[in-house]
Amino acid sequence: MKKIIILLLTVLPLIACNNVAKTQKAEVKTIPVPTFSADSAYKFVKAQVDFGPRVPNTKAHDECAEYLVSELKRFGAEVTEQKANLKAFDGTILKSENIIGSINPSAENRVLLFSHWDSRPWADNDPDPKNHKTPVMAANDGASGVGILLEMVRLMQTDKPTIGVDVIFFDSEDYGATENMKGQDTEDSWCLGTQYWAKSPHIPGYTARYGILLDMVGAPNAVFYREQASDYFAPSVVTKVWSQANSLGFGKYFIDQPGGSITDDHVFVNKITGIPSIDIIHYDPNSNTGFGNYWHTTFDTMDNVDKNTLNAVGTTLMHVVYNEK
Ligand SMILES: [Zn+2]
Repeated sequence: MKKIIILLLTVLPLIACNNVAKTQKAEVKTIPVPTFSADSAYKFVKAQVDFGPRVPNTKAHDECAEYLVSELKRFGAEVTEQKANLKAFDGTILKSENIIGSINPSAENRVLLFSHWDSRPWADNDPDPKNHKTPVMAANDGASGVGILLEMVRLMQTDKPTIGVDVIFFDSEDYGATENMKGQDTEDSWCLGTQYWAKSPHIPGYTARYGILLDMVGAPNAVFYREQASDYFAPSVVTKVWSQANSLGFGKYFIDQPGGSITDDHVFVNKITGIPSIDIIHYDPNSNTGFGNYWHTTFDTMDNVDKNTLNAVGTTLMHVVYNEK
């Protein structure tokens, strides 16, 4: 008996070791990351711009909403249309729609990716004051982030990531008041769709490991600094994304230095839901506004969207998502 026990004891650790080895092997197994297509993402950006400025309460806005919903469905996502009448700072009721696409909807561990899809109704930063009431085409400030996310959902249809992914296109982000406008100028006049969702998410008690916002992610030679609110609420997520970008050779886009602090959708997601969220946003330390010179002007057109930048951001995010276990 003794011998057997000894034998068992010697065999058991071997079995245990073997199991450990197997487990470790399973953990290091990497899921192939589908190749991001910048051509495809570019087409998704252009398709939105072709509707015209997607200003709430306009035909172009409604048509684009239908397009985004049908594309998400076509790529196999579970779609939720969250409609709400939201009151703008000037009293206008904005017929808004947050569009949510879920991949692996039953997975417990989830990542949230988001962008705003509406266009600003006023090019109030245009150098020509005559254009200050003209709607912004928002090729970069809106459509670029949505285009990258649509391409990611398209790729996830064939080779699903391990974790669940929720993509949200938020509405009525860019209807906010600036200092030169009459009316109440508060931070809360921006990001109305996001504020609404964060207070009443599409799934009660919704949570995610972290959230990533894409905003103005398509300009030629855009640079993304570590945005300060992101670094305050979710420094490890910023580090994860910026190091992934650097290891893929996109260090000229993702600058590992502090940038500005920006009131954007991620701030409300952080403050209201507690999901640690970051903002990948084109920041120009040399411009007066902190943004690219196209920001809230009539030049925010397709000329302002570059496939190399879409590729840098899209490829980085594909690796980030597919590395999640
Ligand atoms: Zn904007």
